[in-house]
Amino acid sequence: MQTTDVRCRICALKAGHPGVVLDDDQVCNLCNLDVAGDLLENYKYTNEVFAEFQQAPPNPRGDFDCLFMYSGGKDSTYMLDKFVNEYGKRTLAYTFDVPFESTHAAQNIRLAQEKLPATFVVDSDDDNIKKMMRDVFNRPRPKGSGKYLDEKLPCVSCRTFFVIRAILYAFRERIPYIALCADPQQILTMESNVREVVRDFYRTFGPELVGELFNGAVEDVLFAEDDELPKIVFPFIAMRHDYDPDRMVAELKEKGLYQSSPLETHCTLFPLLNYYSFSNWGCMFYKLNASSYVRSVRRSKDYDRSTFSIKFPRSLDLPEVEDRLGRVVLEIAAGTGDREEHRETLVELFQQMDATEDGARFVAETFLDMRKVAADLGIKVG
Ligand SMILES: [Zn+2]
Repeated sequence: MQTTDVRCRICALKAGHPGVVLDDDQVCNLCNLDVAGDLLENYKYTNEVFAEFQQAPPNPRGDFDCLFMYSGGKDSTYMLDKFVNEYGKRTLAYTFDVPFESTHAAQNIRLAQEKLPATFVVDSDDDNIKKMMRDVFNRPRPKGSGKYLDEKLPCVSCRTFFVIRAILYAFRERIPYIALCADPQQILTMESNVREVVRDFYRTFGPELVGELFNGAVEDVLFAEDDELPKIVFPFIAMRHDYDPDRMVAELKEKGLYQSSPLETHCTLFPLLNYYSFSNWGCMFYKLNASSYVRSVRRSKDYDRSTFSIKFPRSLDLPEVEDRLGRVVLEIAAGTGDREEHRETLVELFQQMDATEDGARFVAETFLDMRKVAADLGIKVG
């Protein structure tokens, strides 16, 4: 493992975290805002594309003005309502059925289908997305110091897989825009240019596997004319300063569009994602989110806003939580240690991260089952 125990003294990111460099004062480049330039550049571009989309006339080449990537979670349900009822876009609500996700969202999708005047499609490809996942998990650790978000590679790859499915769909149906409800941290690394999304994926997985995963269809995107390709828009960019999950949920419930669950966007691979980030990069899966929260709290004493989707308690002792979680995760993966002890430690840690006791117990059980989930998918752990 390349990471050391030297941590940024502001946000607790470790030296050796992918894309992170500490300076002589032991402060990391994210805290020093070296990335601010890139970030602003990206926001500026995504803002422009979104403004262009809002002003665009109806698509003359087909029945839809945009393909909207609809997960059934609160963010995308909130935005889908806006797209059809406020922006007046002819919207194809596209849901990719990710085999690793809990099915709770299905209920919200049914509510939206009843109440929103959009066309809904559900797409899936279990075999190929599982094949890709096996490849990510079973390949040797990436060499070198890694790039930003490498510790989340399986998660990022899963999302890219179904974004490419959506790109191919929009391309075939001549839909000019794809709307994606990514959060600001994802947008930093998400390409708006669909050709670049595909190229990035090629760089990660190689032409042979990519050819298999998409039956050769991505070649058409790589060699298409620019004006034949859909553009990706990020609608949350426009409201990033007043993103307020509680208000959004309240509004959705009032419209009968939403039923919440404490386990809403639960991914069944969450324990394995943590195994991946701990075993390859010595950090927990949500490290960037947690560090970004710690950074904000340090900067402004009265900071109390949740970042997109994830809340952390103010008193979080990040290095301690991370060290203990890492030990337990690696022991479970290796099949060593005491199951009862693991269970108690996990419940305690998840409660420290603001889960309710029931929530913490539920997630702890999924961690204890990690080896079985891995075996079912053909992923080697430990
Ligand atoms: Zn830092």
